[in-house]
Amino acid sequence: MTEYEKLVPPKRGKKITVKNGKWTVPDNPIVCWIEGDGIGPEISSVMRKVVDAAVEKAYKGKRKIEWFEIYAGNKARALYNPKVTDEQLKALSPQDQRKAYLPDDTLKAVREYHVAIKGPCETPVGKGFSSINVGLRQFLSLGVCLRPVWHIKGVPAPVNDPDAIDMVVFRENLEDIYAGIEAYPGSEQAKQIINFLRTEWKVPVDSESLRDSSGISIKPMSPENSKNLVRSAIEYAIKMKRHVVTICHKGNIMKATEGQFMNWGYEVAKEEFRNVIVTEEELNQKYGGDVKKAIADGKILVNDRIQDAMFQQVLLRPMEYEVLAMPNLNGDYLSDQLAAQVGGLGFAPGANLNDNIFFAEATHGTAPKHAGKNEINPGSIILSACLMLEHMGWGEASSIIRSAVSKTVESKKVTYDIARQLTPPVEPISTTKFSDEIIKNL
Ligand code: NAP
Repeated sequence: MTEYEKLVPPKRGKKITVKNGKWTVPDNPIVCWIEGDGIGPEISSVMRKVVDAAVEKAYKGKRKIEWFEIYAGNKARALYNPKVTDEQLKALSPQDQRKAYLPDDTLKAVREYHVAIKGPCETPVGKGFSSINVGLRQFLSLGVCLRPVWHIKGVPAPVNDPDAIDMVVFRENLEDIYAGIEAYPGSEQAKQIINFLRTEWKVPVDSESLRDSSGISIKPMSPENSKNLVRSAIEYAIKMKRHVVTICHKGNIMKATEGQFMNWGYEVAKEEFRNVIVTEEELNQKYGGDVKKAIADGKILVNDRIQDAMFQQVLLRPMEYEVLAMPNLNGDYLSDQLAAQVGGLGFAPGANLNDNIFFAEATHGTAPKHAGKNEINPGSIILSACLMLEHMGWGEASSIIRSAVSKTVESKKVTYDIARQLTPPVEPISTTKFSDEIIKNL
């Protein structure tokens, strides 16, 4: 039995269990939720109402989620460290700064209950702990970031054919330039690294690529994390009956990291999914380059693209891409571009996961200027809840939410962000009204 400092798990409901990769979800699972900061309270509360209504509708009372509130961000700080001032906090060790905003209780609860969903969290004041979101991913070893992107009919989009975009980004979550191994310009660490590179690696002292004044960020990439990511992408393609998995990388330049990412990706594909996949070379040899023939033969095409070309590909030839596997930074950029192509972050869902944990989240931030005004679009967290329901095997509830969101948007009952983009613009409705409309349309 896990001991918590402040949390009290719900009395009703049962734990989801995961054993040897097998998820067992009871009819009344306990699901953790984090409210979030800024607009977090507004969007999290309507998300839970929509999910509860959809589950009720889909399963006629046979299934029900028991929500378990856990804490991160400002609410955690107020609950766990009410008397610590900003100044005192800044003086704490990075670990204690982390605990102030991301208590051990929260990490324990997610490990114990396996499924969680969160609103956005503000980046805290201290320097030692960069972000609650990055912290959650790192402390819980959530190596995969899942960002599906598709167009909801009626959402104004900047491209001619947004409906051609139906892709799922798998972004590595734990390493790459995001590992947080950094030395600020002029710092003792930067001096040490620069000195090491000049003396041991013989980087010329007069190199304009490595100056005395340079800051340094380290980019580690490992076969373990890279293979895990590509494996997840291929497993997803198999499960969801997708036909193309594209490994995206900048391996032509960063050969020791992104080039290896591509090699490791192909290794996983060939070693673990040999009977299911074809590479582009094999596609040409066996199927005359015709992907439709390979698909008809039950194969998944695993190909690769250079990242910069990929930004163009998803704009000009979106129909050719389905599941995209990429390193951390590339994934961060491309998933936001794709979200913009279908109308913006307001309806962009996301989740972070590993074999034992599924953690859904709104992909946007705390939008402080909209906080407390009951005007923000709750679409991102509601659709993230759909990903969570699908992972739990409750696809019926997810489908009816997705349809209800589309129907609501098509009827032009939308929040300000969408209302202002419509031609002619329409009168926006509030966050709560919008979610009431979704519930009506379930
Ligand atoms: P942001 O909170 O995402 O907001 C930037 C702008 O995006 C908003 O002013 C709004 O634009 C639009 N927007 C965001 N969410 C929206 C929604 N649900 N519906 C409609 N429009 C939405 O980004 P930020 O201002 O850069 O960051 C604020 C804080 O959030 C920071 O502390 C940051 O660290 C944190 N953050 C957290 C997460 C996370 O928890 N996952 C992610 C990103 C940022 P308009 O005002 O033009 O309509």
